[in-house]
Amino acid sequence: MRLVGKTAVVTGAARGIGRACAERLLAEGARVVIADIDSVRLAETAAALGNTDTVLAVVTDVSDKAQVEALIAAAVSQFGRVDIMLNNAGIAMVQGFLDVTKADYDKVLGINLEGAFWGTQAAARQMIAQGQSGGGQGGVIINMSSINSGLANPNVATYAITKGGMNQITSTAAVAFARDGIRVVGVGPGTIDTEMIRGDFVASATDRTIIARTPLGRYGTAAEIAAVVAFLASDDASYITGETIYPDGGRRVLNYVMP
Ligand code: NAD
Repeated sequence: MRLVGKTAVVTGAARGIGRACAERLLAEGARVVIADIDSVRLAETAAALGNTDTVLAVVTDVSDKAQVEALIAAAVSQFGRVDIMLNNAGIAMVQGFLDVTKADYDKVLGINLEGAFWGTQAAARQMIAQGQSGGGQGGVIINMSSINSGLANPNVATYAITKGGMNQITSTAAVAFARDGIRVVGVGPGTIDTEMIRGDFVASATDRTIIARTPLGRYGTAAEIAAVVAFLASDDASYITGETIYPDGGRRVLNYVMP
């Protein structure tokens, strides 16, 4: 119960990692605003979370700056403040580098990179307006990056570009807002067993290859990512800002010894 009295906003919360994070933040005592472009799955998730007075669902397309600002406004209108912003919504397109069209490029960058940028900006603006206590114990903005932020995987070039860029949103915003008491951190999961991974990614690799590249020898779970998010959102992480943490079963460090 590290987050009692806090309000968290989670994008891409209708399923997968975002949903697990919403569940965990609620379990830690926070009020949670869940946002997603998929209104049907979002409503199902809201019902599963209990539809209580601690949960608000807001249909949002994070690639639209105005909708992201409206999301923050809805959170403030319902719960009075925003303490935790999790920019989690994301998509991947598995395709060859030369096959990427302008529409593909705009779509992936719009959702993953712009979504995180506008989410960071809107949340920081609200957190500053609230007046945070200094020293890193005020608001927290968390960007859901990926191990692909640092891998040269040409089959997901647009995705990798956005995740590398998200790490830069994390580090630049961390410095921009440090003196306002806001921490900005990233989480870079390895392969996590969600519908996203069971779709294009596994089709393009195979379970066996992915597991062979993961020293811990298995996929991660959405709950394991949510546990890292809950830690970073809490005052237990009060001296961490600007960093992206990699819960990846050892996959990233394996690349240092076994390219
Ligand atoms: P998922 O596809 O299961 O869930 C993503 C959610 O984002 C969906 O509910 C979807 O409707 C929503 N979404 C898509 N476009 C949106 C938009 N424009 N506006 C608002 N919501 C939108 O994926 P997941 O595996 O849970 O991934 C969540 C995040 O974690 C993503 O940013 C992904 O890149 C990242 N990630 C996942 C893995 C993994 O292995 N699953 C690894 C590293 C990083």
